[in-house]
Order: sequence, then structure tokens, then C-alpha cells
Amino acid sequence: MRTRLSICKKKQSYRSGEEALAAAQRADIPLRPYRCDRCRLFHLTSRTKGKLVLRRGARPPKTVF
Ligand SMILES: [Zn+2]
Repeated sequence: MRTRLSICKKKQSYRSGEEALAAAQRADIPLRPYRCDRCRLFHLTSRTKGKLVLRRGARPPKTVF
């Protein structure tokens, strides 16, 4: 997956896949770690192809704010 530089700079980066995965598991929404080809670090994406995701406008199970 190609990552745009602007996205890379905005995103939280992780030095290892384990670190990224741990952060993904702490999140309330399904996240997937991926290797960035810009910075060679790991970022998280909310894109979960073929997996159950909350529809836009659906009420989340927990109140975040
Ligand atoms: Zn990056």
C-alpha cells in the first residue's frame, strides 16, 4: 500500500509491528497495523477489508467523549 507523505506525517508511528498491534488492540474501533513505505515505520489504518465495521452514523458501543 502506498502512503501519501501528508498522511504519513499526520499519523502516529510505531517502531515495531508489536507496538502498533498493541495500540490497535487498545482502540475502540478496529484498526490494522501496516508498514509505511515512506518512513519505514508502522501506522494504523481503520480500513478493515472484508471485516465487520461500524456504519457511518451507527451508534458506537461506548461514548468516547
Ligand atoms: Zn509513515
